[in-house]
This record gives sequence, C-alpha cells and structure tokens, in this order.
Amino acid sequence: MIQTKGYATHDENAKFVPFEFERRDVGPNDILIDIAYAGICHSDIHQAKNEWKDSMPTNYPLVPGHEIVGRVSQVGSDVTKFKVGDTAGIGCFVDSCRECPSCTSGQEQFCHKQAAYTYNGTEMDRVTKTYGGYSDKYVIDENYALKVNATGDLAGVAPLLCAGITTYSPLRRFKVGPGQKVGIVGLGGLGHMGVKLAVAMGAEVTVFSTSPSKEGDALALGAHHFVVTRDPANMTPLTGTFNFILDTVSADHDINPYLNLLGLGGAMVVVGVPASPNVVHSLSLIFGNKTLSGSLIGGIPETQEMLDFCAEHNITSDVEVIKPDYIETAYDRTVKADVRYRFVIDMNNA
Ligand code: NAP
Ligand code: ZN
Ligand code: ZN
Repeated sequence: MIQTKGYATHDENAKFVPFEFERRDVGPNDILIDIAYAGICHSDIHQAKNEWKDSMPTNYPLVPGHEIVGRVSQVGSDVTKFKVGDTAGIGCFVDSCRECPSCTSGQEQFCHKQAAYTYNGTEMDRVTKTYGGYSDKYVIDENYALKVNATGDLAGVAPLLCAGITTYSPLRRFKVGPGQKVGIVGLGGLGHMGVKLAVAMGAEVTVFSTSPSKEGDALALGAHHFVVTRDPANMTPLTGTFNFILDTVSADHDINPYLNLLGLGGAMVVVGVPASPNVVHSLSLIFGNKTLSGSLIGGIPETQEMLDFCAEHNITSDVEVIKPDYIETAYDRTVKADVRYRFVIDMNNA
C-alpha cells in the first residue's frame, strides 16, 4: 500500500486537518500521480458540510478534491497511455463497470452500477473508500486519467477537470455557436468557465449575476453583456431573446425568470445543485416549446475533448492559488460568492 498525506474534515463543521491514509499499490493498468494542484469545487463544500445528506450522505473522514492535476511518477507494466513525467488529470470519477451501455458509450458518469467517485465514494468493489485530491498522490487506472498537454499554468488547468467539463458538455450538447445568444447564470467557478467556453465557441454571451462588482471581470473574460439580477427591471427587456441559458448557481433561487428569457425552442440547463427544489409551471415550458434539462459533468472521451479544446484555445481557469491552511477561509469566501474565480490548493509542497 502507498502511504498518502492529505487534508480531511471529520464532520460537517468542515475544519480541515492533516490526515494520513493508504492508496492501493500501482497495478498493471494503474498510474501513480504526484498531485500538483487540486481545485476547490462548490461540490466539495456541499459534501464537506453534508448538505446533500438526503441523496449523497457524506462518509467522514472526507478528503475532497476532484479537480486534480499532477505528474505521473510511476506506471504499471501494461500502461500505454502515460509515461513517467507526463502531466495527467483526474476528474469526478476514477472507475466504472466498463460494460453497461453508459460506459461503452463514453458516458461513464452514468454507469448503471454507479461510477466510483473520486472521493466520498468507493472503488468498484463497493468496499474500498475513495479519498480525493486534497492529498499528495492518487493511484488510478490509466483509462480514467486524462492527458494534459498544457505546458504553462498548471494551476489553471486543474479546474477544467470539473468546472470545465461540466460547462463544456451542455454547451456542446445544445450546439452552442455563432449567431446564438447564450446566458450564463452565476459567475463563480463553473460560470466563469462557461463564459470562456461559450465565447470560444462563437456565441454572444450575457452574464447574469447577483454581484455588480463582477461586471468588469465578466467583460474581461469575454462576455458581451452583464446583467445584475437583483433588480427584475434589468431582466424584463430581455424576455424571449435567448437561445440557451446555463444556470450554475449553487444556492436556492427561482429559475422561472430565466425560463422567461428563452425564445422559441430555447433551452435552459441547470448544473448547480441548490438545496431546495424549484417549482416550474408547465405553461412556462409549453409556451415557446422550451426545454429544461440537467447535466452531470461529462464522460472520459468528452473530458479529453474539452482539455484538447482548451489547450487549442488557450483557455485555463482564473485561479487564486492557496496553501492548505487556507481551505476553510476559501470555503467561506466561496459561499459568499467571493471567489475570482476558483481557489486551487497548491499540493506541491504541502
Ligand atoms: P461557486 O464558485 O460558488 O459559484 C456559484 C455562483 O452562484 C456564485 O459565484 C454566485 O455568482 C452565484 N450565487 C451564489 N449564491 C447565490 C444566490 N443566493 N443567489 C443567486 N446566485 C448566487 O460554485 P461552483 O463551484 O461554480 O458550483 C456551482 C454549483 O454547481 C454547485 O451547486 C455545485 O455543487 C454544482 N456542480 C454541479 C456539477 C454537475 O455536474 N452538474 C459539477 C460541478 C459543480 P454571482 O456572484 O455572479 O451571482
Ligand atoms: Zn466539481
Ligand atoms: Zn457501467
């Protein structure tokens, strides 16, 4: 077994302390990654605080982290995709059954047996607990690790492994491109990636935000318009004008005002996971043949496609790099929407 050092919370107060645990030895198909950076996704916070206790209760101690990049330091005897020294990434899951229709169609996140989540889950044996990227190493089957070709800022690559793919996948599925008006709701970790990606795909992008102070940043990220949602009067003139809206908000909020902004045949995708359900009247969808959809991260092939797209378009996340002793403060600031636009933990010397 491989001794691993990480940072864990032992209860829903989300106080992080050093924590040692074991990872499996490197098997024939495994690679060992020395973790360089781990992004802080709001899903880490939801789970550290057990906010999804009804659907995905937290199994403490919890070592979060599913936006991971690092260097390959060991490869198993049958590994072909990686060699020692390569840069590799890990996203939200580390294994799946490999046989069901979801797995064989490259949508492993929907594995019928249930994918092995990177943390707060188990390996496919349903026994061995998984611990995430707030740690110094990870052992993963090469088929579930991503190739990272970026030579520059690795810290800015880490958030692509969740925030990047979670926004890329629905933008692609709904064929966002030139001539389309796209709204991104919430300018946080996911939202700012959504802006960069939708702009790179050629869309006209509007950011909907509760934070007036983010206007300059939104425009610098490439957005064409910025709307402060606290005043409904700002929304009314935009009724019926959008092709596609991506809602990334992590907190309870009413999605109906955004459905009103969709034009004929428009689609809205929710990726944020607020605690409370939303109520939508059928007529809000019926008038205008509108679509309301969800989206869960993305499969391995599409995650690789997204990383290659980002490398080609020079897209990385805007990050604030922190040391592990800042995790709790970073959580507090993220909850207050005071993140510009992703906290990333430097695990190099942690
Ligand atoms: P984040 O960085 O905290 O960003 C969320 C943004 O939502 C905030 O920056 C803020 O933007 C806005 N917001 C916060 N509180 C709000 C409120 N009370 N009313 C309206 N807007 C509010 O979070 P994230 O990491 O991007 O994650 C966003 C959500 O997506 C989380 O719920 C997370 O669990 C979920 N998620 C889902 C998937 C998936 O596969 N579906 C994957 C990853 C994450 P403004 O300041 O601009 O208003
Ligand atoms: Zn995430
Ligand atoms: Zn499967």
